[in-house]
Amino acid sequence: MKIPEVVIKKGKQRSIDRFHPWVFSGAIQHIVGDPADGDVVEITDHQGKIRGTGFFSNGSIAVRLVSFDETEINEAFWYERISAAWALRKQIGLAVNPETDIFRLIHAEGDHLPGLIADVYGKVAVLQAHHAGIHRFRNEIAKAIVDTSEGRITSVYYKSSDTLPKNIDAGNGFILGDQETKSLARENNHSFEIDWQGGQKTGFFIDQRENRQLLATYSSGKKVLNTFCYTGGFSVYALVGGATLVHSVDSSQQALEGCLRNVELAKNKSGIHEAIKADAVQYVKELPDDYDIIVLDPPAFAKHLKAKHRAVQAYKRLNAHAIRQIKPGGIIFTFSCSQVVDKVLFSNTVLAAAIECGRSVRILHQLHQPADHPVNIFHPESEYLKGLVLQID
Ligand code: SAH
Repeated sequence: MKIPEVVIKKGKQRSIDRFHPWVFSGAIQHIVGDPADGDVVEITDHQGKIRGTGFFSNGSIAVRLVSFDETEINEAFWYERISAAWALRKQIGLAVNPETDIFRLIHAEGDHLPGLIADVYGKVAVLQAHHAGIHRFRNEIAKAIVDTSEGRITSVYYKSSDTLPKNIDAGNGFILGDQETKSLARENNHSFEIDWQGGQKTGFFIDQRENRQLLATYSSGKKVLNTFCYTGGFSVYALVGGATLVHSVDSSQQALEGCLRNVELAKNKSGIHEAIKADAVQYVKELPDDYDIIVLDPPAFAKHLKAKHRAVQAYKRLNAHAIRQIKPGGIIFTFSCSQVVDKVLFSNTVLAAAIECGRSVRILHQLHQPADHPVNIFHPESEYLKGLVLQID
């Protein structure tokens, strides 16, 4: 059967010339055939030349390209892409690492697989589909993940009910293998209990691994505030790094319970830990002035472009409270995971907060997502996490 053909307008092939993997609906001249959400389609330009293969969606991003030529999406395709993702994780020192078995195996466009996330926790991979095309191929994808993992991954949990369009019944659950729905996994030799079923996203914020490690190096003898702590990733590293006191703040009771369990699992710590259920935005408004280190890792304040302005104001207020109140010589780890707030805008926002406070603020480190969340250079949208480590006198 001939697959549907999406013909793009003259001039609109330019983003494809630059290898950007999205075709917007406004770029389409006409469609030959009647593709449904998730169907594989071929892209041709106005001269009839094949320019790519991708998944069709009835939305503003009409096609997500997996290649810039004619490609058959079959078993071999998934094996080839997923084994390349596995090879990259080995190359960067993950995948086969006795200290860390928590990592992102597939970072969507960053691994040339638009709309597909796969996070690994020990022997389990958690799959997240962001469009109908990935949903359709979930079983083939799961099988390819297990088969290419050199025996390390035995189960695949599918968790897409929050990320797929509402008309698709995602049916969260194991699609290959089986396991308890919670399990212990390791990050830099720290044990974490991961609840992929009940937790947020795929269960853990893997993207902060290197930044947590950096926090540990600053923590000895310090009083640390970890806001938006989720299950306590930063708290564990601070305590093991020698913090004398760590306050972990989150509005989710479930997250705090996970945080307490993870702190319990942490070895070689002597400091005191307290979990505080609070709105962190309110908490920082009345911040005590005796914290040596403050971590600000809020959820994405801007989930889309329209929310950008308000998000920037919210980041500014949050950072201003922390900069104003931190002890002289103190350190702030401040982050934004909003993709629409890029690193320049984020730095400028923190600058605006610093101006308001009138204290000496220096940038010690500029942080970002780790290598298992690769940024496809042709798709700048795959870059989303940015952070600054500030020193305040
Ligand atoms: N730093 C964490 C990840 C943070 S994710 C880590 O390393 O694992 C964002 C967290 O903010 C979530 O746990 C969510 O429950 C929490 N959250 C969202 N809005 C909040 C608010 N207004 N006050 C406190 N916590 C909030």
